[in-house]
Amino acid sequence: LTDGPGERSETGVPPDGVRGRTALRFGERSLTYDELAGAAGALAARLRGAGRVAVWATPELETAVAVTGVLLAGAAAVPLNPKSGEKELAHIVSDSAPELVLAAPGSRLPDTLAELERIDVDASAGPGAAPRETATAEDPALIVYTSGTTGPPKGAVLPRRALATTLDALADAWRWTADDVLVHGLPLFHVHGLVLGTLGPLRRGGGVRHLGRFSTDGVARELNAGATMLFGVPTMYHRIAEALPADPELVKALGRARLLVSGSAALPVHDHERIATATGRRVIERYGMTETLMNTSVRADGEPRAGTVGVPLPGVELRLVEEDGTPLTAYDGESVGEIQVRGPNLFTEYLNRPDATAAAFTADGWFRTGDMAVRESDGYVRIVGRKATDLIKSGGYKIGAGEIENALLEHPGVREAAVTGEPDADLGERIVAWIVPTAPEARPTAEELADHVARRLAPHKRPRVVRYLDALPRNDMGKIMKRALADG
Ligand code: ATP
Ligand code: MG
Repeated sequence: LTDGPGERSETGVPPDGVRGRTALRFGERSLTYDELAGAAGALAARLRGAGRVAVWATPELETAVAVTGVLLAGAAAVPLNPKSGEKELAHIVSDSAPELVLAAPGSRLPDTLAELERIDVDASAGPGAAPRETATAEDPALIVYTSGTTGPPKGAVLPRRALATTLDALADAWRWTADDVLVHGLPLFHVHGLVLGTLGPLRRGGGVRHLGRFSTDGVARELNAGATMLFGVPTMYHRIAEALPADPELVKALGRARLLVSGSAALPVHDHERIATATGRRVIERYGMTETLMNTSVRADGEPRAGTVGVPLPGVELRLVEEDGTPLTAYDGESVGEIQVRGPNLFTEYLNRPDATAAAFTADGWFRTGDMAVRESDGYVRIVGRKATDLIKSGGYKIGAGEIENALLEHPGVREAAVTGEPDADLGERIVAWIVPTAPEARPTAEELADHVARRLAPHKRPRVVRYLDALPRNDMGKIMKRALADG
């Protein structure tokens, strides 16, 4: 689980250099590497022989101990979102059929989980004799349900090999060391907060400071106290961008961080630029997904560029493919293709969904991401959006929703924007803009917004219809649920 300086330990026993160092801190509570190994080892001893173990993934120390213990035991963890609706939770539990559920003492579990044996995680247990790992690299480590942005969540089975190779690729690309400390407030039931944000820094002996709940004050406090990296989703960076002008502590904090990283959805160019202007720092975007873990990013010594997600990580093969299956060869910033990925970072299957699994792969093993992108001359990938919801076919053009959203967000009267396509007798599809105005009493008119976009991009990219909302429907990662918009 941890790689110390120059040393690798698959048993979770910390390498010598970091034993007494703080591995995890959640709020006021923390564990050193020794204590984490003890608590996770004690738990693993109790889990011996288990196959699938659900983890009630509250943003607490116990969740990190639970997942570490499950991995040590050679079992597979199924992180559950404590805020899931009853129906979604019931689906995930019946689909993944865990043998037990791990939870922090005192967590109230819903009735859906009443049938399962429960083990309360003791973060102060130990030292425990960690069982010898018998799992192989191809055995499942995690079953993580996708965010459910485009349909019901699917359980992606992630082998131990995918975790190990992705974390090593990121650690190399971002030059993680035992002196790095990551701060974030991400949920722990998706790969972003769990794999990258919790297991990630531990791989090279670094530390994690989890905020429990994200706040710009918490970010400023931890970075000013010496944390070196920040991970977040775009809605968090949006809050940072909004807070910066009136918060010199936050400006100072971001200025001293070694890495600011955004992922899980597109970071609006407007927020990227505002942060760069206020702090002199550019946020690195990385692109990944539950099924593939991380695909691309900018290296620690590379140059982040607004609207781009960098280059493939070491070991990841990436290509853009036209609708008829032909790979694109152009690095012209214009030709749009579907991103397909191959490499050791890939999941093995969607649980209980052989059809969906088969449909997701090409005959020669490329995973179809469903995301559309272009490649710039230096190889940087620029994501255009999802094939299913973000590519609008209007008047003979293929138009990406993202660039229109970015243009709309530059209008001072627009706080949030989402763009979708709607059937249209003349155009095939017409462009619809969903707008949350900055000030509802002075909202920009549809004509004004259409002109704004036409001037910046091109006349055929202007929205034909504008609809005003109080808030956009977003899931727990802050992703815009475009299917909820389309369904009214
Ligand atoms: P579901 O698959 O259930 O519909 P989901 O695709 O949102 O949900 P995740 O696996 O959590 O579930 O998200 C991966 C997706 O998030 C990617 O396929 C991509 O569309 C989007 N994404 C991730 N990072 C970025 C990024 N930096 N820029 C743009 N989009 C991103
Ligand atoms: Mg998806």
